Amino acid sequence: MPEEIRTCILCGHDHSTLFDRREHFGRWVHNRLCSRCGLIFQSPRMTAAEAEAHYAAEYRRTIQGREGPTAKDLDFQARRAARLVEFLQRRVKRLQRHLDIGCSAGLLLERVREAYRNEALGVEPGEAYRAYARGNGLQVRASLDEVEAAGQRFDLISLIHVLEHLPDPVGYLVRLRERLLAADGWLLIEVPNVYFHTSFEYEHLYSFSRRTLTEVLRKAGFRVGAVCIQGRPISQLFPFYLTVLARPARRSRRPFRVRPERGAARKRLLGTVFQIFVTQRLPKRWWLLIDIESYQDTTRA
Ligand SMILES: [Zn+2]
Repeated sequence: MPEEIRTCILCGHDHSTLFDRREHFGRWVHNRLCSRCGLIFQSPRMTAAEAEAHYAAEYRRTIQGREGPTAKDLDFQARRAARLVEFLQRRVKRLQRHLDIGCSAGLLLERVREAYRNEALGVEPGEAYRAYARGNGLQVRASLDEVEAAGQRFDLISLIHVLEHLPDPVGYLVRLRERLLAADGWLLIEVPNVYFHTSFEYEHLYSFSRRTLTEVLRKAGFRVGAVCIQGRPISQLFPFYLTVLARPARRSRRPFRVRPERGAARKRLLGTVFQIFVTQRLPKRWWLLIDIESYQDTTRA
């Protein structure tokens, strides 16, 4: 049975309104908007046990027709990894140990290692992707528990299109900061930008704006150093993604007080109208990739 979410993980408020309702691969997906802080979350949603079974095998088969990597997916991941390394290299000089959570085929691990000559470790729950990355000589674990048991600290932890899938992003980020990230380490996060990306998928338990992502990080004890809102590798024009680099914040005695997001419905509407307008006026010019139709699907990545 799906799980109903009543209390907002960001502000603790228990009143929300229905924000979006749609069908995604045959399942109804309901997203709600917290009336106090503007966080958008899915409710009802799959339980922890359902999620575990889903990610072990079913997820990839549903979104791309097979469990293992496809040529299209690998090409897409390679482009994304190249852009993320570009983003990192402008801000981070040296790295020794990189942990990529939800590492998929391992392309980001490889690109970061090429750039920094660091040690690399991945976590990937999908069996076929984990096997693929291991086949390329990467160290990949099935769960974060296995990494934690080894007691190592990392100076870069990345979560690329992972945070929106987690049932408790605040609790998870606290765990990373307290147990796995070096005291002066970097956290690299990318999520869909709810004002441009379709975002409301069965697997996305949260849909973030720049403000709500920043507030989730702040509540988990991080300070945001850099934010990039852009659409590559899909679009030069539409800002489908939010990329953030954060570090552990100094301890504060003041209790966390959320800075609310305002006007979520209006902002999403504006994003949608802008996309429709440009798409009609400048057909093909806003997409970077040649195979436009097949890549439109990957905005759901
Ligand atoms: Zn809230």
